[in-house]
Amino acid sequence: MKLGIVGLPNVGKSTLFNAITQAGAESANYPFCTIEPNIGVVAVPDYRLSNLKEMYNSQKVIPAAIEFYDIAGLVKGASKGEGLGNKFLSHIREVESIVHVVRCFEDSNVTHVDGNVDPLRDIETINLELILSDLESVEKRIPKLEKQVKLDKSLLPELELLHQLQGVLEQGLSARSQDLNEDQQKMLKEFTLLSAKPIIYVANVSEDEVGDGGSDNPHVTTLREFAMEEGSEVVVICAKIEAEISELEEEEKQGFLEDLGLTQSGLDRLVQASYSLLGLISYLTAGPKEVRAWTITRGMKAPQAAGKIHTDFERGFIRAEVVAFDKLMEAGSHTAAKEKGHVGIEGKDYIVKDGDVILFRFNV
Ligand code: GDP
Repeated sequence: MKLGIVGLPNVGKSTLFNAITQAGAESANYPFCTIEPNIGVVAVPDYRLSNLKEMYNSQKVIPAAIEFYDIAGLVKGASKGEGLGNKFLSHIREVESIVHVVRCFEDSNVTHVDGNVDPLRDIETINLELILSDLESVEKRIPKLEKQVKLDKSLLPELELLHQLQGVLEQGLSARSQDLNEDQQKMLKEFTLLSAKPIIYVANVSEDEVGDGGSDNPHVTTLREFAMEEGSEVVVICAKIEAEISELEEEEKQGFLEDLGLTQSGLDRLVQASYSLLGLISYLTAGPKEVRAWTITRGMKAPQAAGKIHTDFERGFIRAEVVAFDKLMEAGSHTAAKEKGHVGIEGKDYIVKDGDVILFRFNV
């Protein structure tokens, strides 16, 4: 899964991104991810993996991973192609979700591009660029579709939706602000609009505010209210502290967090928020060679889930042998779980659940 980090200059993006690459999951484990300076991979924390490792005496553990793309340089005028703007917008097109870092910390040593700290104005600045770029693509589509509709009336709902979105965007609102029915949502996905992508706001607060989740910071309160109306998530972090945490060993990390009054790092919370916002879950595979978690969308069927491992698994899918993680632990071994009837033989319509431990059978 790919997330793009955006934000105005000087809000703490690089600090956060450096923390991500520092904490970075071992890239050798993620061959899909070539090592590029603007990509950071973060492991999805999952306590179940270490239990499975013990049970199977596995050599290796590979957690699920989220890729963060550093999309720096989005500034006012980007949609008009100013300062490499269009290139950045095209990077946003490639990610599944946007992480928007918003400055909520006051620090007179760090200048703000627009003079003072004001999260809503910052959000508006960035959103406006996405909205203007969307408006351009909607306005390009409409005349084309108008011609097609004359020949094919079934395209009418699509044209109507485009007109509706045009109106919304012209008002300076994001495409995601609309309540759409299921069919319209499907159409919206095909339009690949930037302002329709799910978004997580990262409130970057100062070192002494992060312990209580920024509850005394009025900027955070404003941001939360705004995000709630939009149906988006807010994660409160201190980028500077994340950078410090990323340099610690695992054992030191817990104590450091406790001293700050935290139970989890901001990065871990960001990963969890992404999972919940995007409706993601993990299933697991386990054996003596490796234990591994795989990210899928909730509601995905067994063959598509198998396809995450390899496209051959999806194409040649025969069946899945599935045991829920808790049942497997309770039984103590896969054989014991089987004897107790906890291992289900599932076909191509089986909907994979979070924490399913699966062995796929397939034809090559
Ligand atoms: P970017 O332009 O958005 O990538 O911002 P940077 O990550 O380069 O940060 C800009 C400046 O803000 C740097 O001097 C950082 O040290 C500082 N900064 C970033 N995060 C924090 C924070 O949480 N607290 C404070 N006080 N300063 C921060």
